[in-house]
Amino acid sequence: MTALGMPPVPPRGSGNLRGVAAFPAAAHQELANTQLRRNIGKATHTIRAKRLSVTGELPDWEQLRDAGAAVKTDVLNRLPELLTQFEAAVTARGGVVHWAADAAEADAIVTDLIRATGSDEVIKVKSMATQEIGLNEHLEEQGITAYETDLAELIVQLGHDKPSHILVPAIHRNRAEIREIFLREMPGVDPDLDDNPRHLAAAARKFLRHKFMTVPVAVSGANFGIADTGTLAVVESEGNGRMCLTLPQTLITVMGIEKLLPTYRDLEVFLQLLPRSSTGERMNPYTSMWTGVTPGDGPQEFHLVLLDNGRTAALADEMGREALHCIRCSACLNVCPVYERTGGHAYGSTYPGPIGAVLSPQLAGMDAPGDPNATLPFASSLCGACYDACPVKIDIPSLLVELRHQKVEHASFGIEAAAMKAASLAMSSSRRWTTAQKAAGLGRLLAGKKGKITSLPRPLAGWTEARDIPAPPRQTFRQWWNSDEGRAALAQAREKGRQQ
Ligand code: SF4
Repeated sequence: MTALGMPPVPPRGSGNLRGVAAFPAAAHQELANTQLRRNIGKATHTIRAKRLSVTGELPDWEQLRDAGAAVKTDVLNRLPELLTQFEAAVTARGGVVHWAADAAEADAIVTDLIRATGSDEVIKVKSMATQEIGLNEHLEEQGITAYETDLAELIVQLGHDKPSHILVPAIHRNRAEIREIFLREMPGVDPDLDDNPRHLAAAARKFLRHKFMTVPVAVSGANFGIADTGTLAVVESEGNGRMCLTLPQTLITVMGIEKLLPTYRDLEVFLQLLPRSSTGERMNPYTSMWTGVTPGDGPQEFHLVLLDNGRTAALADEMGREALHCIRCSACLNVCPVYERTGGHAYGSTYPGPIGAVLSPQLAGMDAPGDPNATLPFASSLCGACYDACPVKIDIPSLLVELRHQKVEHASFGIEAAAMKAASLAMSSSRRWTTAQKAAGLGRLLAGKKGKITSLPRPLAGWTEARDIPAPPRQTFRQWWNSDEGRAALAQAREKGRQQ
């Protein structure tokens, strides 16, 4: 199936980790973990400082951001046309293109491709798209073992954990915790391993080197796909990606359909924007690019799975379309005061932080009753730091406000909507408003001597969970206005006005 052959707005995808709590409950739990807060605070402050230093040294940084935003706008405006061009270019260079409408379809395609090689093991380059479709879990159910080869992803995998940052998935772990995980889970590890970072990295290298040399299939994501040449690009820091992309016989790449760039030349902009915004480096240590299959050099079989999983639905929505500009640099996470305190797990989504709060509801929807995604647009102070940091100028705060608006609009069955309707009815008539104010006086009974209402019964209990309500005053403003005291105050104000 091609993108052009898809229905105009296919169903939403799945972007959530399985069995998650809504953000407020999960955040409460994470906030109690002081070690986590220390780890994340230290890491985000370090990356933030590096980013500011390397972006500040470029005189045309703002123009680069404008160029990045313009290219992504162009891509999304012409997506069907560019995808067709991309498919033709990949195929012409010996690659095989598969289209996946959702996570289940993508998982099934990848599983069949791995099975066809006869292997029950696969090595993986860090990939958000494969996390989004729950590929590792699916492969495990099918009897195929996936080995993450990025050091942080390996730590997460061995720790039976979930990533908590787009770029640094194990940002919530310190080196003592990593040592414990390696000693407990890594086959063949030296029992005397200490927590020196060099020694930990060496232990991971030894374990992974054997996998690189023996596993015949690799799965990768892609940072960019170039429509006019069919080239794929992966940027990384450790060289593990380069090993996965060159050593196995078969390479399977899973790429979200929004990751396209029109021309090879557009990489010039993004290979400056991405490393400076993500790791605070001038350029990536490893930038791997490949185009189809080259006889006798690298993988001899290349499959590209183009993933929709809610993207076409997001594209049809003006707000969703802007969120699809994201190049997953994680700069918005590192500057977010909410993320810094709660960490990534609280978002319960493959994509945490400010962009996750926008992207997850867009990709997977938030309209089902009790959907944890519905709380994500509220997981922000709307301070605007994410907008300032974003290399492609996504206006995340405005997107969050719009999603909040949509949430309230859709919640026409909810208590909040019913309360708003009742308030609107009362306020539209002077007589009804006077009656409502008299009735509100009953609240003084609930407030008692304390003068504040600290807990309301269900279904209003949520209102008083995080705040008290002051007791209604004995006298309303209207009553005061019509009293002797009110009239005297008015006369006094008028007299003062005349004298001035
Ligand atoms: S929204 Fe912008 S800052 Fe955040 S990850 Fe995406 S590109 Fe980076």
